[in-house]
Amino acid sequence: MPRGGRRGGPGVAERQSDRNRGRYLRLRKMLMTNWRAQRARCWFCGGEVDWTARHPDPRSPELHHLVPVSVAPQLEWDPTNMKLSHRLCNSLGQAAFGPTTIRAR
Ligand SMILES: [Zn+2]
Repeated sequence: MPRGGRRGGPGVAERQSDRNRGRYLRLRKMLMTNWRAQRARCWFCGGEVDWTARHPDPRSPELHHLVPVSVAPQLEWDPTNMKLSHRLCNSLGQAAFGPTTIRAR
């Protein structure tokens, strides 16, 4: 039996992840715009985020998932699960705050 009916493979997966990436970037941009307008502060340290800093800068704004996506994949697109953080705090926080600590807050 030929396997001609099999469609897509990696190509479909790539297009899917491209679409998710576009969706993520749009959501991220929307949240960042709101946070900037509200002068939101870093969820971890409460400090001001440097809105002029770009990605590799530790003070640059980054989107933090309150409940890690690895714990609750269904919350990946939930804006209420997303907080503003410094890039540095976010990377440190992932290690410092386990899911238990985060739930306790
Ligand atoms: Zn911070």
